[in-house]
Amino acid sequence: MKRNSNVRQSVAVSVILLVLLFALPLAVIVPFRSELFSTESPVQESEGEPFTPGELDGKTVLKVLNGDAVEEMTLGEYLVGVVRAEMPASFEPEALKAQAVAARTYTLYKIQSGGNHGETADICTDSTCCQAYIAEDAARNNWGKDADAYEEKIESAVRDTDGMTILYGGIPILAVFHSSSAGQTRASGSVWLNDLPYLQSVTSPEAGDAIPNYYSRAEFTAAEFREKFLAAHPEANLSGEIGGWLKNAVMDSAGSVETLSVGGITVKGTELRTILGLRSACFEWEVQNGNLVFFVTGYGHGVGMSQYGANQMAKDGADYQEILTHYYSGVTVEAYSQPG
Ligand SMILES: [Zn+2]
Repeated sequence: MKRNSNVRQSVAVSVILLVLLFALPLAVIVPFRSELFSTESPVQESEGEPFTPGELDGKTVLKVLNGDAVEEMTLGEYLVGVVRAEMPASFEPEALKAQAVAARTYTLYKIQSGGNHGETADICTDSTCCQAYIAEDAARNNWGKDADAYEEKIESAVRDTDGMTILYGGIPILAVFHSSSAGQTRASGSVWLNDLPYLQSVTSPEAGDAIPNYYSRAEFTAAEFREKFLAAHPEANLSGEIGGWLKNAVMDSAGSVETLSVGGITVKGTELRTILGLRSACFEWEVQNGNLVFFVTGYGHGVGMSQYGANQMAKDGADYQEILTHYYSGVTVEAYSQPG
């Protein structure tokens, strides 16, 4: 193997480790297997029938680990399950298409960069390991009377974007996404170790007032905060006045905390977010009645596509390609077939 590709591989591996570390619903897949999907007896689409993917998404068959069972399904069938789970089905059709393309790209990226499940499977349905996935029956139960319309919207989003993939330099990107940003997404380098050229800070148009829990508050007593932080950093000095424990916050251009000092230890805002279970690293704090209170904006790591921002762009008339090329810098969106 060439040295360059080893370097690229280790960069990819560190990104994956960081992604997992910060509890993204992200994935690692395994040695890729591509097979021709048999189309000899096309099934008429109707309620309750399995989804029939487009030509490109039908060519790739994945081994999907679902609980203890491994199910074989086409990339298209898998993506329908991911979009059901990862974005509200009430969102605009173009936002759902953008989500389908991001999920397809993410899946192909992971397949090409190795995997978490060895020979067992290409990907799993656990959102803390790979991408979230919901089967049709379970989704229909959640959707109730809207089930037919929602399922059709999602199947259309996948079928109408058959094979469309976000590429940088001709290669599928690490298409991470998050729920909502505070007006600006974050560069990957402010959140993780690697600064990827296509994951830079861009504006994001979501209207906070319309998003559930866009502004959240989290309160910790001195004892609670000490217990949580010392579990991660036993060397921190949290003995003095609580008002002096957190200081020297460095903000990134998106208004999130890049680093701060906690009890004399410098940590990333993202790490403190994880330790405390905050909804994002876009936070401020103050001491109220002897407790530390955090005021948090948005939800998620803030890198890549904002789902609520994508929905707002769609409402304003953008199509899925415009949404994707806005959130991922310097990319193209093209029909792509996994080399196999
Ligand atoms: Zn997994």
